[in-house]
Amino acid sequence: GQCSVYCPSGAITEIDHSKKVETVLKSKKKLVIVGLAPSCRITLAEIFKLTPGSLTTGQCVHLLKLLGFHKVFDVQFTADLTIMEEGSELLHRLTDNATTLPMFTSCCPGWINLVEKQYPDLIPHLSSCKSPQQMFGSTIKNYYAEKINIEPENIFCVTVMPCTAKKKELLRPQFKDKKTGLKDVDLCLTVREIGRMVKRRGIEFAELVERAFDNPLGYSTGSASLFAASGGVMEAALRSAYWLKTGEEFPEMKFKPVRGLDGIKQATVDFDGKELKLAVVSGGKNIHKFLEPWGTKAFDYNFIEIMACPGGCIGGGGQPRSNLDIVPIRLKSVYSREKNLPSRSSHENPLIKRLYQDWLKKPYGQVAVKHLHTTYKRYIFPSEMDPNKNENNEKNKG
Ligand code: SF4
Repeated sequence: GQCSVYCPSGAITEIDHSKKVETVLKSKKKLVIVGLAPSCRITLAEIFKLTPGSLTTGQCVHLLKLLGFHKVFDVQFTADLTIMEEGSELLHRLTDNATTLPMFTSCCPGWINLVEKQYPDLIPHLSSCKSPQQMFGSTIKNYYAEKINIEPENIFCVTVMPCTAKKKELLRPQFKDKKTGLKDVDLCLTVREIGRMVKRRGIEFAELVERAFDNPLGYSTGSASLFAASGGVMEAALRSAYWLKTGEEFPEMKFKPVRGLDGIKQATVDFDGKELKLAVVSGGKNIHKFLEPWGTKAFDYNFIEIMACPGGCIGGGGQPRSNLDIVPIRLKSVYSREKNLPSRSSHENPLIKRLYQDWLKKPYGQVAVKHLHTTYKRYIFPSEMDPNKNENNEKNKG
């Protein structure tokens, strides 16, 4: 097909927030912070007709600065944070011998929406971790604001995402501060919206020199970059969960069974003497097929990664429009650079270590659970609804 809006959860009509962001930038009333999602540094180049698969991280940072964002941070930093939390949660569920195994990943809002609407029995099995987008916003408003001595209401937090479902995710009531009503993330822009902003400004992307992310949310590991592709969260989580459990590095840094574009991938792995059964699924049809035996003995896993878009976020509904042949090229780009990075596992990220020292204390501890974890709720269909109550997460449409 000639369309990349195959994100099953994305609305058919596209809501464009780029002008809203431009208005906030022009008003100069707030500190406007932006975070760049993992896959976007690979796909943005396509909008400007550069070779598909080109990794343009430094140019993207420069571009976001030129567009007027005051701080340009990396959502890969909070992808590393997600892994520390999710890896710890997995260990907790494994040692607890909990009935809440298998654990499913929770970073894809397309998948979360599907569970809340069609598979509510799975809710206790979803990892309670917020997605990297929401951990990003929470870290900005609850930690960074205090660090730089600014009131969180004077910060406007934007993300650049591969995804239309992320726009709704940030509106969930769970992601609003209970006291102040402030959202973790104020607005999300897709790669295509960034493309429009650039065209309006007449910036020549190909001519931009590389710039570095701002800190303290500007450094990430190879694990975080893997989030762009289906199987990446699984691979990253295994590396760090293994390390958290044993103090040693996971022996298979290239864990082949979860790589590639197959819609359903399965593997078993020796996890410190215990056999872990894993599955990685992407794409709407594959998800339904995979979940068919749920509740029977045939459905036997410990940890499952699910992404709504085929191939994961590199195939997301907010990516540059292209035909599906481009997804393998983007995928190759994800893996080719990861193997050469100096730190490849989230637990090696020195700025993540600092964040725990300064703020969170320990993974899956009290502070972390308060700020970085969330809850889910069965969706109430209109036919079941009490007209006097607004019962769904989607009530704050805007
Ligand atoms: Fe969004 Fe990625 Fe999920 Fe697609 S796979 S809905 S792009 S988070």
